[in-house]
Amino acid sequence: MPNMQSTKTEMRTQPPKIRAKNFDEVALGYTEEDAKNEAARCLHCKHRPCVSGCPVSIAIPDFLAEAAAGNFDAAYDVISKSSSLPAICGRVCPQETQCEAKCVRGIKGEPVGIGRIERFVADRHNEKMHKTEKPEPNGHKVAVVGSGPSGLTCAGELAKMGYDVTIFEALHTAGGVLVYGIPEFRLPKSIVSLEIDNLRALGVKIETDMVIGRVLSVDDLLADGFESVFIGTGAGLPKFMNIKGESCNGVYSANEFLTRVNLMGAYREGADTPIMRAHRVAVVGGGNVAMDAARCALRLGADEVSIVYRRGEEELPARREEVEHAKEEGVVFRLLTNPVEVVGDEKRAVRAIRCVKMELGEPDASGRRRPVEVKGSEFELPVDCVIMALGTSPNPLIKSTTAGLETERWGGIVTDENGATSRPAVYAGGDAVTGAATVILAMGAGKTAAHAIDEYIRSK
Ligand SMILES: Cc1cc2nc3c(=O)[nH]c(=O)nc-3n(C[C@H](O)[C@H](O)[C@H](O)COP(=O)(O)OP(=O)(O)OC[C@H]3O[C@@H](n4cnc5c(N)ncnc54)[C@H](O)[C@@H]3O)c2cc1C
Repeated sequence: MPNMQSTKTEMRTQPPKIRAKNFDEVALGYTEEDAKNEAARCLHCKHRPCVSGCPVSIAIPDFLAEAAAGNFDAAYDVISKSSSLPAICGRVCPQETQCEAKCVRGIKGEPVGIGRIERFVADRHNEKMHKTEKPEPNGHKVAVVGSGPSGLTCAGELAKMGYDVTIFEALHTAGGVLVYGIPEFRLPKSIVSLEIDNLRALGVKIETDMVIGRVLSVDDLLADGFESVFIGTGAGLPKFMNIKGESCNGVYSANEFLTRVNLMGAYREGADTPIMRAHRVAVVGGGNVAMDAARCALRLGADEVSIVYRRGEEELPARREEVEHAKEEGVVFRLLTNPVEVVGDEKRAVRAIRCVKMELGEPDASGRRRPVEVKGSEFELPVDCVIMALGTSPNPLIKSTTAGLETERWGGIVTDENGATSRPAVYAGGDAVTGAATVILAMGAGKTAAHAIDEYIRSK
């Protein structure tokens, strides 16, 4: 008999007042009993709508059935057939718009907490020592550029098929946005390292500090014996507003701010790459990146942190849970507000941002109501730090150093549905193709491309 409780089994979190002052993980996860109870809420519908909501098609009802019976190892085996990073996806996937959005239990109550159970099953697996068997080598070499979720997944899939895979990563640490963007309090870096260790155990080699397009080009890799190259270089180029005063001291892109905090550990005493300790911070934007930057600024000791967003609450693109967590921790939401100028003092240090109030007009091409300026509504918000979280685009380096690689006008690499680019033997996926998206979509693209690369090499 399914558990007919209409709400999700609650997951413990650190109390807001305490967690707003530390970088430890906010959500504390399920116990074994919680995971069994929650998994037992699945109705095992014949048409399995949750599976169609998962970009990598995990056999969700099957792993829930195993978890409900307490067979957590078997549950892990089901998940790992489709996903190579479950401890990460259980934490950061937007389940509310994917698998859980399709769950029939969501019609009259809350959907099954699929992500929470996935997280429990993966963490329980990772806590134990595992001996990973290296697959039989098949004698073929593939290069992967970038070690974010798309590159890691592509590498893992190919390694499981026996390929000799080398990942080339520009930074000194592997993981992409998982290590330099998403903060420790949402995704502990030890979890990312464990998943990367699993790949190393499969035989994947990772060369860090290797900027492809500078140290070596994609063509050098192909000439060097790699039979195919996968490009998973993400979309790390920040956008700015191009308003007056944006070059003042104290204005950061969210990318730089989060990299300093997360990757370089600027929140620790004596960090080599420090960060300004601001008193009043404005974060411009309303997505996940803006929420992460605001919550980091709060944890660094700011007295007031505001989200400044030109549309309303309903239009905030960030995950609901992240918005709620930010509010609980004390982040102020200044909605329907748009900055028009950064105001500096005599030393060009940020003193304020000048903003206008907005109202929502007719829907625009995206279907969202267009924000329109309210005449005469200008005001100054005193701040000493401004963080721009306005989106990102792919870095043009690979495009400019790889002849014949077709790209969109905004910089995305053009591929077919299998990740094949305009260059033979060269595949791509993740944010470098789609623009800023999600971890699971990047993983899905890495997996698809790995199978296309295998087919390409076997048919040569
Ligand atoms: C702050 C933040 C929070 C986010 N939160 C979430 C979330 O909660 N849930 C979610 O699903 N998604 C979230 N996302 C989006 C998600 O992280 C990305 O969609 C995903 O990481 C894209 O994966 P990727 O492999 O395409 O690229 P990335 O993760 O960007 O990895 C690309 C890697 O390539 C490397 N690289 C770039 N150029 C070169 C080069 N020339 N040579 C060698 N290496 C290179 C980069 O250093 C990087 O390590 C968030 C993004 C950010 C920035």
